[in-house]
Amino acid sequence: MDFHLSEAEQMLQTTARDFAKNEIEPVAAAVDEANVFALANFKKLAEVGFTGLAIPPEYDGSGGDVMELVLVMEELAKACASTCDIVDAHISLCARPILLYGNEEQKKKYLPPLCRGEKIGAFAITEAEAGSDIANIKTTAVRDGDFYVLNGSKLFITNGPVCDTIVVFAGVPDLAPRGMTAFIVEADMPGFSRSPQYEKVGMKGASNAELIFTDLRVPAANRLGDEGKGMKICLGTLDEGRIGIAAQAVGVSQAVLEHCVEYAKERKQFGKPIGENQGIQWMLVDMACQVESARLLLYRAAKTMDEGANPVRAAAMAKLIATDTCMDIAVKGIQIFGGYGYMMDSPMQRYFRDAKLTQIYEGTSEVQRMVIARDLLR
Ligand SMILES: Cc1cc2nc3c(=O)[nH]c(=O)nc-3n(C[C@H](O)[C@H](O)[C@H](O)COP(=O)(O)OP(=O)(O)OC[C@H]3O[C@@H](n4cnc5c(N)ncnc54)[C@H](O)[C@@H]3O)c2cc1C
Repeated sequence: MDFHLSEAEQMLQTTARDFAKNEIEPVAAAVDEANVFALANFKKLAEVGFTGLAIPPEYDGSGGDVMELVLVMEELAKACASTCDIVDAHISLCARPILLYGNEEQKKKYLPPLCRGEKIGAFAITEAEAGSDIANIKTTAVRDGDFYVLNGSKLFITNGPVCDTIVVFAGVPDLAPRGMTAFIVEADMPGFSRSPQYEKVGMKGASNAELIFTDLRVPAANRLGDEGKGMKICLGTLDEGRIGIAAQAVGVSQAVLEHCVEYAKERKQFGKPIGENQGIQWMLVDMACQVESARLLLYRAAKTMDEGANPVRAAAMAKLIATDTCMDIAVKGIQIFGGYGYMMDSPMQRYFRDAKLTQIYEGTSEVQRMVIARDLLR
């Protein structure tokens, strides 16, 4: 495996880094404070084509592969994890499954407005009784002529308060217990409603809501893939999504590390910069090694996906290590900043709050360990 980025990848990384630094980072604290979907950032992403990454130009996407998507997401997360989170739900969890599992008609209808940022995407599997255990969903899809009638509700959905196009998973009762089927649902379909947004600990610029389906009639033409193939689509989508969350975690970790290095050089105690103490140096060294290790796993997972090889283990390992690392680094970051790190006007507290979520969604760290264990022992 080549560990060097190609010229095109390096160029994209530089473009994304400059964009994130100039357009996203300056508003990151305000986005967190505002605690609503970061619409202005989403529009900026659309202007530069970042809402259509990894989608071919024929559907108004910007082209590129998962590796390129990951490079951009890492830079966005370094500037503002919430903005990266929006992109993960919009592209990895919504546009990409439509591209990979949709028919031509569905791709032509749904991908261009998503890529242009005219519509906002989301993905909905989680329910009250189906978190880690996604097979236990209770939402039903009953066939009625040219429609399916959906009933049920989905919890915690990222972009939920604002989404237009949602990849939804429901069980077809006739096929139970293996009836999970995927659908493309539009938020303006009668029978669709949503809760007020949840109040969260972190990632506050990416808003979440419960999505409720009450006798929602979805045209059969909106079924994504075959009846009963929803679990495969869901797991395949989550493999990519997990790589996106690993990118998010690496971006946040890198941001913490860079802030800490600068602070260790500036902050003086006992008449010298705190960075001259071995105790601080070793913390910084551990953080730097952790970020690099996580990044290598991340890039390996993205390349594995792009090569068409089975990505399950690589994606789970990347997510597990990158997110556990991110939390650890965020804790160390606050420690290095001392009392200032604990204050709300320091970015450290935001990194700390954002980092925690990466260990929870798209499969908790325990679930990633389950996935890897299954693969090891099969
Ligand atoms: C901010 C946020 C955004 C989200 N966005 C979306 C979204 O866009 N779309 C969507 O569908 N879902 C979304 N989710 C849901 C998310 O994926 C789930 O919360 C997550 O998968 C965990 O499910 P749960 O919360 O029900 O926890 P549970 O499954 O109840 O788990 C509780 C605890 O038990 C552990 N556990 C469970 N089973 C096992 C086991 N077998 N062995 C060991 N430990 C176990 C878990 O690791 C966890 O620590 C989001 C969640 C949050 C918080």
